[in-house]
Amino acid sequence: MESESGVKIGLECHAQLLTRTKLFCSCSTDYQNSEPNTHVCATCLGLPGALPVVNGQALRYGIKIALALGCTIQPEAIFYRKNYYYPDLPRGFQITQYDFPIALNGLVTIENTENGGAKERAVRIRRVHMEDDPGRLVYKGTIDTAKYSLVDYNRSGMPLVEIVTEPDLRSPKEARIFLGKLRSILGYLGVFAGDLEGAMRVDANISVAGGDRAEVKNISSYKGVERALAFEITRQKNLVRRGLVVTQETRHFDEVRGITISMRTKEFEHDYRYFPEPDLVPLHILGLVEELKREIPELPDEKRIRFATQYSITMEHANALTYDITIANFYEEVASKIDPKLSAVWIADVLKGELNYRSITMREASERISTDEFVSILSYLKKGVITERGATEILREMLDHGGDPEAIIKNKGLASIGSEEIETAILKVIDENESAVDDYKAGKKESLNFLVGHVMKHTRGRAEPKEVRRMLKGLIKE
Ligand code: ZN
Ligand code: MN
Repeated sequence: MESESGVKIGLECHAQLLTRTKLFCSCSTDYQNSEPNTHVCATCLGLPGALPVVNGQALRYGIKIALALGCTIQPEAIFYRKNYYYPDLPRGFQITQYDFPIALNGLVTIENTENGGAKERAVRIRRVHMEDDPGRLVYKGTIDTAKYSLVDYNRSGMPLVEIVTEPDLRSPKEARIFLGKLRSILGYLGVFAGDLEGAMRVDANISVAGGDRAEVKNISSYKGVERALAFEITRQKNLVRRGLVVTQETRHFDEVRGITISMRTKEFEHDYRYFPEPDLVPLHILGLVEELKREIPELPDEKRIRFATQYSITMEHANALTYDITIANFYEEVASKIDPKLSAVWIADVLKGELNYRSITMREASERISTDEFVSILSYLKKGVITERGATEILREMLDHGGDPEAIIKNKGLASIGSEEIETAILKVIDENESAVDDYKAGKKESLNFLVGHVMKHTRGRAEPKEVRRMLKGLIKE
C-alpha cells in the first residue's frame, strides 16, 4: 500500500443493459451470433431524418441500478448531443446525459482484501447516466499496426448505463475489487448482460502524486483494468521521478502487450459542444422511483449478513456464497435440504474451486448438476457411503460429463470401504515399509504422513485419511 500512496483512480464504467431492443430504436440487441451490420436501422445508423424514441425498459433498468448504488434520482433527466467524429459514430454525435443525469451521489462499500486483512472502503459514486453505444471498429491486427479497420454497426445504439466514481480508489487491485462488487450488484438486479463479451467497458482515470491524470479508454476486461492501471502507475511514477511532466491525455490499453499507448492529448469537455438533444423531451422520472424501489431485491451486502446469521456460517463463506446471485440461490436451495454448514463448505470452497478451474459459471454448471443431486452427494458423504475424496470425484465427473451421483459411485467404485478392509490395507503397508515404521517409532512424525499416503493409494481414496491415521497409529503400537 505504502508504495502506491498518492495514487488516485476514478472509473467510468459502461454496463450494457439486458433489454430486448436498443436504446432509441426497435433493433434487436441479440446480435452476438449475427453477421456484422445486420441489426441496424435508419435510427441507429444515424441516417438523416430518423428520430430516436427512448426505450422505457432501459430507463427503468438505469434507475434501478442508480437506486441500488444508493444514488439520488433526479427530477429531470435530459439527453444531450456529445459531438465528435469517429467512423463508429455515423451520426457525428453520441446521445448521452450531461448536465442532467438520471442520478447523483451514491456509495458502494467494498472489502479490500489486499495484504491479508479485509478493510472496508467506501467508494463514492458521482453520477449515473444513460447513453447509447457507438458501433465497433474491427482492426486487422492491433490498433496501432493495422493497415485498415472495418466497422460493425450492430452495437450502435445499444443501451448503456455509465457509472462514474469519484477518484476514491487507491490501487489497481482496489479498482478490480470495486468492479467485481459492481458486477455482483448488477447481476442481482438482473438488468445487466454480464455474461456477454464486452458487457462492461471501463475508462480509468489515474494520477500519481505530482502529476496530471491520464485516462485509459475502453478497457474491456476486469483483469485488463488492473493491468492497465498497474502499467500506468509505473509509467507515471517514472516520469515524475525523472522530473518530467505527466500530461493530461487519453491512452489506449493494448491487452495483448499489456501496455498503454498515447492516443491523443486530452480533449476538454467544451470541445464536445454539448447541447440538449432537440429530438427528445426531458424525462421526468421521480414518479417511477417508488415502484422501482419495490422491485429491488435483497442485495449482496444484506444477503451476506443474513446468510452468516441465519445459517451460522463464517463471514468468509457468506461472502463467497453471495458474490454471484446464481450461487447464492443454489446455496439456499441446498441448505434448505441438508446441513447448511456442510453445504457452505462444499459450495464456497469445493464447487467454486471446480468452477474456477474449468472457467465456467454457476449458470452453466447448473445444467450439469441440480441442487437435488448436490444434496444427494452431501448426504452420501454424511452417511459415510463415500469419502470426501469420493464426493469431489463425483462432482468433477458430473461437471465434466454429467450423469447422476449413484451411477457414478457404482461405475467408478467410489463407495467407501469398511474398517476391516482398511485394516488389511494398513497391515500390508506396515509390512512393506518397515523402515518408515521404525522411523515413526523413533519419533519421526513425517513418516506417518508417508504411511497414510500409501494406505490411501492402496484403498484408492475410499477411506477417510483421518480414520486411516487413527487406525495406523493404533496398529503400529500393537
Ligand atoms: Zn436500429
Ligand atoms: Mn461514456
